[in-house]
Amino acid sequence: MKIAFLGLGNMGSHMARNLVDAGYSVTGFDVVQAAIKVAAEHGVTPAETAEDAVNGADVVITMFPAGKHVLEAYSSGLLAAADPGILFIDSSTIAVDDAVQAAKLATDAGHLALDAPVSGGTTGAEKGTLTFMVGGSQEAFDKAKPLFDVMGRQVVHAGESGTGQAAKIVNNMALAINTIGTAEAFTLGKNLGLSHQTLYDVMSTSAAQSWSVTTNCPVPGPVPGSPASNDYRPGFATGLMAKDLTLAREAIESTNTPADFGMAAYRAYTEFNSEDTSGKDFSAIIATKQKG
Ligand code: NAD
Repeated sequence: MKIAFLGLGNMGSHMARNLVDAGYSVTGFDVVQAAIKVAAEHGVTPAETAEDAVNGADVVITMFPAGKHVLEAYSSGLLAAADPGILFIDSSTIAVDDAVQAAKLATDAGHLALDAPVSGGTTGAEKGTLTFMVGGSQEAFDKAKPLFDVMGRQVVHAGESGTGQAAKIVNNMALAINTIGTAEAFTLGKNLGLSHQTLYDVMSTSAAQSWSVTTNCPVPGPVPGSPASNDYRPGFATGLMAKDLTLAREAIESTNTPADFGMAAYRAYTEFNSEDTSGKDFSAIIATKQKG
């Protein structure tokens, strides 16, 4: 099976390399030359253009920053450059509506299409332990599954086109709310005289236990491997969380869903996200809860 991989950035570079290591023939393209060069050092065949990369491919995987890049690529000759009836997988995190539109462009051109965003960050991409949330037909899913199994550990077929993106942004909205709640709990606990370790010992074994407490605890100390214990190095960057919450806000508004806490999390991360913070782990938002 020949794969074209477009978008060889922080995530795509690792995902493409894992496919090469698993024995697939992978041709890669990125608008940044340096990214193609690094990928080529890891066994990816470099292409001069996106169209060259998809020429003769059985599967095209895109891993772009945002929905506009996916829609631009799908609308500008990429679909026509491919052999008839191949599979297009978009693993970028984009709006549900954009994912549905992208899939329609691909299927109208006679191809199979999946939205397949991931969680697990660059570490998951590097280690091949990503979670894939997949929207699209069973036929497309069955064809893509062996590739997801190489790049990831957990694969969920959520339903028709757009449902992969829906699962991704809903999950991240809940995660943001949970993290802010945990940050407020640790701050209030401290103001009431509880040490971080004491509160961690209680919360990590009580009903408020969650990933935001036991793995990504927002205060330094209780979890040695957490971003907070390592100067808030991500992890999952604040800038990406702010982006995903913008997609969640759009979905909340377009579906008219009562989601006050989701909207509050969107506002909190949008305000917190700045040049200084966008590269820090999203648990660093606890700084906004601390006095003076
Ligand atoms: P990135 O910016 O590092 O990589 C994206 C790459 O796409 C860049 O190298 C860029 O040059 C390239 N690109 C843009 N338009 C292109 C085009 N038309 N043709 C070819 N290449 C093009 O971003 P990333 O961190 O790899 O994230 C990619 C996607 O995955 C985003 O949608 C992000 O939200 C999502 N995501 C990222 C993480 C993470 O931890 N980094 C985790 C989960 C999901």
